[in-house]
Amino acid sequence: MCPKCEEHRDAISKAVGMEQKQEAVRLFSEHLTIVQKEREVYNKSVDDARVEMTDYVRPAGVIPPCSANLTKVHYTMDFSQAVSVPHHARQEGPLYFLVPRKLQLFGIAVEAIFRQFNYVIDEDQTIGENGTGIKGPNGVISMLHHCLQQNGFGEEECIIHCDNCAGK
Ligand SMILES: [Zn+2]
Repeated sequence: MCPKCEEHRDAISKAVGMEQKQEAVRLFSEHLTIVQKEREVYNKSVDDARVEMTDYVRPAGVIPPCSANLTKVHYTMDFSQAVSVPHHARQEGPLYFLVPRKLQLFGIAVEAIFRQFNYVIDEDQTIGENGTGIKGPNGVISMLHHCLQQNGFGEEECIIHCDNCAGK
């Protein structure tokens, strides 16, 4: 369920009369068809990447760009929700910290090798003050660049999927 889905569901429940309701349902199912197509593209990209990687053994260290004959390497990236430190999965009762420390989590998954690299960004490590500015293009591209450089395969081409911020 994305924010668009919520909007469509809302529109259906608020629609007055048969015609308006049918139109709202039609728009929602149109959206779901697009979602289904996007899913298929994503799943196919992951499958293709895994097939290409089956016999590939990555040499250790940094690999120069475009030095490996790979064209289907697939990356997925996204921010997780901010994590407060100290953090307990099952926090009972109040925390004895007035202001917990806030960490940002950014993950890049390399599906073909079943591995994910997580960037843990402390409050004082962001571009802006007090943990701000990390979600902008400078922060994201810096981390992506680091990951591709350090953990990439020297591939000729790759496919990247990321959250398109449907909420915004
Ligand atoms: Zn949706």
